Amino acid sequence: MPHSSGGGSHGGGFHSGGSFSGGSHHYHSSSGPAEFTFFSGSYSSRPQSGYRRYVYYDKRGRYHNTYYKGPKPKAIPFGDLLAIIITLTISFGGISFIAFLMAVYHPAKATLPVNDTITITDSAGIIDDENAVYEALEEFQDISGVTVCIETVYDRTWAGSSKYYSLEDYAYSSYVNTFDDEKHWLFVMSFPEDYETCEFVNWRFEGMIGDDFFYTISSESEDRITKLLNDALLRYAPEHVDSAIVEAFDKFGDTVLDVQVNWILVVVGFIFLFLYIFAILGFIIDYMDSHHVGNGVNVPNNARELKCSYCGNAYIVGTVIKCPSCGAPLSYKEQQNQ
Ligand SMILES: [Zn+2]
Repeated sequence: MPHSSGGGSHGGGFHSGGSFSGGSHHYHSSSGPAEFTFFSGSYSSRPQSGYRRYVYYDKRGRYHNTYYKGPKPKAIPFGDLLAIIITLTISFGGISFIAFLMAVYHPAKATLPVNDTITITDSAGIIDDENAVYEALEEFQDISGVTVCIETVYDRTWAGSSKYYSLEDYAYSSYVNTFDDEKHWLFVMSFPEDYETCEFVNWRFEGMIGDDFFYTISSESEDRITKLLNDALLRYAPEHVDSAIVEAFDKFGDTVLDVQVNWILVVVGFIFLFLYIFAILGFIIDYMDSHHVGNGVNVPNNARELKCSYCGNAYIVGTVIKCPSCGAPLSYKEQQNQ
């Protein structure tokens, strides 16, 4: 089914066609089972009132302090951390990836349809130089592979008819009656019957584009030709509609296959990338804290630091019975005497 690529009028400016790309995607990320202590916010690296001191030793036997408020938490299982990292990668990471992917649109020249004849059906008799229009559209076809056809009508063709709600409705109908594929782009232009004598000629136009141009004509490109045509008609219509079409499609052809970058999607991609990185770092820090406290020993804030008499490694009284660095036994007596 073809869809509107936008339209315009002398009185009311121009409008965009129905957008079919860049629709919103909704992802739901699970926050995980309720027993997770992730982001509990009750860890501290400094002593604070209401926080209890936990001492743990790293692989080299050096001690570290973590302060934690509330009952001693369980160390978060690695599987839980892995599950949340996978969930974040699929959701935030995935949104970021898709946003970057969709941000860059590289138009490809379309393959011509079996019937690639450019037609100009000037029922309103308003196009003087059909050859000039034909040449411009042929040049555009060479560049883009898109077959553009022009139809002009009097307003009464659709406005006075009970068959059509609007010019867009008429253009749709005309497209499906004229073409049996999705490889044409029809522009219907409508004029009042007395356009040669009336004071204010309220022309209108509507584009109807086949769906096979998905990889050639982006919705931004549709908006661009709608605006180009509207601007040209404002200057040339109704006397030189031919010049308006030629100028609009000449300009359009210059850029129609240029790479388009959607900067909003680039920004969205970076926002979700940073959210992803910060969330993962936060969860990893929480995971490590829970292990430090879960495997640590609760001691008073003023518990003394002593040194192993064999290797000199520092430890906290009441947390170990052997030196965590050299393994030498630490006697109770030794701890009391110092
Ligand atoms: Zn030691």
